[in-house]
Amino acid sequence: MATRRCKRDADSFCYICGSFIKVREKKYDLSTNLKICEAYQAYFNLPVKNQDKKWATHVSCNSCSYNLDGWYRGEKTAINFAVPRTWKEPSDHTDCCFCIVNPLRGKHSKKTFYPDLPSTSAPIPHTEENPVPAPR
Ligand SMILES: [Zn+2]
Ligand SMILES: [Zn+2]
Repeated sequence: MATRRCKRDADSFCYICGSFIKVREKKYDLSTNLKICEAYQAYFNLPVKNQDKKWATHVSCNSCSYNLDGWYRGEKTAINFAVPRTWKEPSDHTDCCFCIVNPLRGKHSKKTFYPDLPSTSAPIPHTEENPVPAPR
């Protein structure tokens, strides 16, 4: 990975869904919110990975942590995808979500385009074969 810094800090993106987290929005550090990591593991059947890497994101957005945490406690919240966003080390900054994504502001923010890149692929929605997992 080239040494130039990314356009945006990796930790402005949610590890779980990959959404850009606005400066004033709440975010949760995965290293100190172990319940979120536990819930992530239980929901997706995947460990939280690469938390020792600089190129990885280490935070969860408010909506993912609220929904995962609620689901873990047996409430009726769920994440709207069966497979979370996946992350690999970008080969360079043209393969780098933190450089490529251009977050739109205000009411347009939901239209921000998140490309599929070799280093990262979008969450996969739930389907009938892949429903919201039952809480424990
Ligand atoms: Zn970059
Ligand atoms: Zn999220």
